[in-house]
Amino acid sequence: MEKKKVSIVVPMYNEQESLKILYQELNRVTEPLTAYSFEYLFVNDGSTDGTLAVIRELAAADTRVRYVSFSRNFGKEAALYAGLKSAAGDYIATMDADLQDPPGLLPKMLAMLEEGECDNVAARRTDRKGEPPVRSFFARCFYRVMRRLSRMEIADGARDYRLMSRLMVDSILSVSEYNRFSKGIFAWVGFETRWLEFENVKRLAGETKWGFWKLVRYSFDGIINFSDTPIRISSYLGLFLTAVSFIAIVVEVIRALVFGDPVAGWPSLVCIITFIGGIQLFCMGIMGQYIAKTYMEVKRRPHYIVKESNIDAESNLLYNENQRTS
Ligand code: UDP
Ligand code: MG
Repeated sequence: MEKKKVSIVVPMYNEQESLKILYQELNRVTEPLTAYSFEYLFVNDGSTDGTLAVIRELAAADTRVRYVSFSRNFGKEAALYAGLKSAAGDYIATMDADLQDPPGLLPKMLAMLEEGECDNVAARRTDRKGEPPVRSFFARCFYRVMRRLSRMEIADGARDYRLMSRLMVDSILSVSEYNRFSKGIFAWVGFETRWLEFENVKRLAGETKWGFWKLVRYSFDGIINFSDTPIRISSYLGLFLTAVSFIAIVVEVIRALVFGDPVAGWPSLVCIITFIGGIQLFCMGIMGQYIAKTYMEVKRRPHYIVKESNIDAESNLLYNENQRTS
C-alpha cells in the first residue's frame, strides 16, 4: 500500500532564525513516523531578511521541502491560502514558524485523525503565559464578541495549528473570498473538530508580527467578514432615533400651541444636532466598511502573487484530481 502523504504548511515572514530550528525539529518529529511520507511546504510571505535564501538551501538538499515565495508581503492569511492550495497531502497541517505551535504534537494529531471520527484536529493553548496582559484581555473580549455576533464557535486560544483531512482542506479552498479570516472559515466549513490542548510556548526567535493595532484591525475584519450584526445595529439605531424624534416633534408642537414659543433652547438644539450627526456618521462608517469589503471582493484580485517556487502547479492539480477520483 502506498504511504499516506502529510503536508506541513508553514507561513513565514522574516523567520530566518526560527526556520532552521523548525526544520530540525520537524525532522526529529517526523522521522519515527515511517508509515507516512512528508512534505514541508514553506510559504515565504515576502520576507525582507534571509528567509528565502535559507528555504532555497533546504530545498536544494531535501526534496521534501517545497516552497512558494511571494512577490511581496501579502499577509499570513494569503500565505496560508497559498500553502493549502499547493499542498498535495492526504493530511495537511498548518503551523507557525516560530515553534509556538510545537511540532511534537503532530504524532498525536495524526493518531486522532486516523481514528476516523473527525476531519480536523486543532491545537488550543490553555493559557496565554508570556503574553502582555493587555493583549490577552482584548483577545478574550474579541472572542466573546465574535461568538455572539457571528453565532459561530470560534474558540478562544485556538491557534492556526491544525491537522486536516483532504476533504476539509478542499472545502476551505472552495471558500475563495479575498478578505480571509481563517479562524472563521475553519468554523464555517463545519466538520467535526477535536481539540488538543497545550501550554503556551514563547516565541523562539525574532518577534511577533502582530502589533496591537494590527490585531485590532484584524479583529474588526473578523467581525465584519462573519457577521452582519453591526450593520443591523446601525439600522435599528436609526429606527429608534426616528421614533424618538417623531415623539419629540409632537411634544414640541403641542407645547408651542399651548404655551407659545419662548425662544430658548439653543444649547439643547446644538446637542441634538451633533448627537444625531455623530450617529449618522457612525452608521455610515459601518456601511462603508461593508462596501469596502464588497469592493475588494468584486475586483477578484488574486490572493497573492508568486515570484518563485519549486512546485509545479499543474502536476499538483493532477495529483489532487487523482486523489479524488481514485
Ligand atoms: N506571518 C506571515 N505573514 C505576515 C505575518 C506573519 O506569514 O504578514 C507568519 C509568521 O512568520 C509566523 C506566523 O505567521 O509563522 C505567526 O506570526 P507571529 O508568530 O508573528 O504571530 P503570533 O504568534 O504572535 O500570533
Ligand atoms: Mg508566533
